[in-house]
Amino acid sequence: MLEDARDRVAAVLGCEPAEVVFTSGGTESDNLAVRGAVGAAGGRAVCSMVEHHAVLMPVGALGGTAVAVDQAGMIDLDALQRAVTASPSVVSVMTANNETGVIQPLHQVAELVGSESPATLLHTDAVQAAHWLEVPGLCAGFHLMSVSAHKCGGPKGTGALVVRRGVELSAQMLGGGQEGERRSGTQDVAGAVGLALALESASAERATEAPRVAGLRDRLESMLVERVEDCVPTASGAAKLPSIVHVCIAGVESEELLFLLERDGVMASAGSSCSAGAVEPSHVLAAMGVDRSLASGALRLSLGRTTTSAEVDRAVEVIAEAAESLRSGVVG
Ligand code: PLP
Repeated sequence: MLEDARDRVAAVLGCEPAEVVFTSGGTESDNLAVRGAVGAAGGRAVCSMVEHHAVLMPVGALGGTAVAVDQAGMIDLDALQRAVTASPSVVSVMTANNETGVIQPLHQVAELVGSESPATLLHTDAVQAAHWLEVPGLCAGFHLMSVSAHKCGGPKGTGALVVRRGVELSAQMLGGGQEGERRSGTQDVAGAVGLALALESASAERATEAPRVAGLRDRLESMLVERVEDCVPTASGAAKLPSIVHVCIAGVESEELLFLLERDGVMASAGSSCSAGAVEPSHVLAAMGVDRSLASGALRLSLGRTTTSAEVDRAVEVIAEAAESLRSGVVG
């Protein structure tokens, strides 16, 4: 069943079965990619400033560099070019951001790094993207790609790292030599099967679900702007995942807003879904140059295959009422 799951994951991700390394999820895949590349080749790691902490922290721990993004959250290609002149061992740029949904220009990144520093390995964190985008085409030219089952409707605590044939990676988990010596430890077979099924289902439904959910996303964003005073959409105009709406509501504190929303059955987040509850403004918004006071009213809403337009309408009503009552100081 494990090998069957490997074949199925490989078929969806557009790689060979031997290139799939099963892991405990996105965090482990990202750590293995960054630490494994630096461990094998020495040298430095480079990433964008808007990466998930599962990339940012290992890059930081290894003394690496985080490259700036523009106001839309897209990696600054000139800054990246400067960063790769030192021939880093790995450059990690996410496929799509988990807070804003912004999709990175991976083809341009691959072209630039490939021509400036051909020995550098390219890693992409496709944890948020694998459900919604055709990652094989989008991530062409990348040597390493992380995915996580629970972001595609699969079980929590399981994922994979695609390691292209010939890529030297130093294993971070040593022991019995499973996963082709790249990740020791007895595999989570049920998790691997769950990952395969989740990726297959997402892929089979994508042609109909992605445009449907993108339509709901656009409607949700425009209704929020219309109904909620001083509601500013984040990275307006950038190419984004269908599943995320991110706005900042001026004059409102996210933590207070989230409390009222949760009370009325709307589950949202102030920053990334993995660090909900954190009071520090998001590093993603800071990197995009969003004013600190505006960023303190950040609201991230997620949509998925079960989301209906009635839920979008209700969420807008609840958010509008909550923002109004916080502004007026009358919380019912
Ligand atoms: N990378 C991104 C972009 C994420 O959104 C997340 C989780 O939300 C992770 C990595 C971590 O993945 P996992 O929760 O499977 O460890």
